Amino acid sequence: MKFYRSLSSIKKAIKANEISCLSLTKSYLNNIERLKDLNAFIEVFTEEVIIRAKKIDIKIKTGKAGKLAGMVIGIKDNICYKNHKVSAASKILNGFVSLYNSTVVERLLDEDAIIIGRLNCDEFAMGSTNQNSFYGHVKNPINVSMVPGGSSGGASAAVAANLCLATLGSDTGGSIRQPASFCGTIGLKPTYSRVSRFGLIAFASSFDQIGPITNTIEDAAIILEVISGKDNYDSTTSIEKVYQYSKTLYDNKLPKRIAYFSECFDRDATDKEVKSLILRQIQELIKQGHILDPISFSYLDYLVPAYYVLTTAEASSNLARFGGVHYGFRSKKAKDSNSTFIKTRTEGFGKEVQRRIMSGTFVLSAGYHDEYYKKAQKVRRLIQNKIKDILSYYDFILTPTTPHTAFELGIEVKNPVSMYLEDIFTVLANLSGNPAISLPLNKHSNGMPFGTQIIAKPFKEKELLSFSQSLMNTL
Ligand code: GLN
Repeated sequence: MKFYRSLSSIKKAIKANEISCLSLTKSYLNNIERLKDLNAFIEVFTEEVIIRAKKIDIKIKTGKAGKLAGMVIGIKDNICYKNHKVSAASKILNGFVSLYNSTVVERLLDEDAIIIGRLNCDEFAMGSTNQNSFYGHVKNPINVSMVPGGSSGGASAAVAANLCLATLGSDTGGSIRQPASFCGTIGLKPTYSRVSRFGLIAFASSFDQIGPITNTIEDAAIILEVISGKDNYDSTTSIEKVYQYSKTLYDNKLPKRIAYFSECFDRDATDKEVKSLILRQIQELIKQGHILDPISFSYLDYLVPAYYVLTTAEASSNLARFGGVHYGFRSKKAKDSNSTFIKTRTEGFGKEVQRRIMSGTFVLSAGYHDEYYKKAQKVRRLIQNKIKDILSYYDFILTPTTPHTAFELGIEVKNPVSMYLEDIFTVLANLSGNPAISLPLNKHSNGMPFGTQIIAKPFKEKELLSFSQSLMNTL
């Protein structure tokens, strides 16, 4: 079975009559079956994708196919697809069927993508290991005794293992980029408001963004150009121009001015080899003629606390709707309205989700609102201003995506705060709203990959992607 790593190579092979959408789809289905032990998919839409692949083959023959014809794509299980189950990997949504399409799904289907199934993730996208899923953990295809990262762990594992060509994940604090780093894939979090959140099960609404996980920059670019743009169903979406990102990957004005934070490399909590390999990469970029400056970013230690105060606050409000009445699961012990709410939520939510709802309720409560929530809002503004200031001079900020490579599966997380601190480099772009990408440019001596993260100015995805393309070609 030959695997294609990009949509352009698939299109070429279809044109040359070497494959069809049908044969391609079948080969992915076979691979999913062969590697089902990875547990990347919660559900595979086997019968319907066969029918759809045949239809798209006819469209290709008659010259009527959309630009994603030939792309077999998986979606994270928090993205709604009409008449399909969606659960955010939670027991509380077990059995729930979506009544409508998310905007991203609608746009993918309009361009003839084939959606092959829904992908495992941490419950309600809360986590960094994919071990908080009602459907069990996902294994990292690079080394099956490791986690794939989270929360879009299934989405990154599926791309790394050739279970489909590309996937859509969601990123609230790194959930696209961190699993990309752990599995050696490309993960792009667009600017906040670039992509509609309509039909994304909300975690923290002022942070959440949907984005692609792929093998190539070109595929990330083509997916982004399809899913981006104004949407009347999400009033936060931007009217900023959407470029044909896949056509501008070689429009590159070099050299670039790039900042990196000295504090990232002073931290003892970052793996030594991660630091040394990224520093070596910085030297390499200087050799290529780019300008790289170390700058001080004194807010580094405030990122994780601000992120967890604000996202848990938003989550406690967003998740209030799951009470055993409108959606999915209801406790058998429910007798009246109070017990329906309490028993359903106690049985339906996993530990981590309960912890976040409790923290969020606490930081919003009357006595603590000013001390935690309001303060974190102020910190967020300071961080946004500082990033704006840095990027008024520099084109990009470069950091490692993650302080470590993938963790071992099954290690009991005794102190959740130590896990939260692993998000230190990714939460920045969600607090500030900037676009950021993780590029699979590094290999640790322990055999695992890890990513280089590039952060750009808001709505500069075109520049971010073309610079990423040049890094992928030259590093
Ligand atoms: N690891 C982060 C968290 O647990 C990221 C979550 C996300 O981006 N959805 O909150």
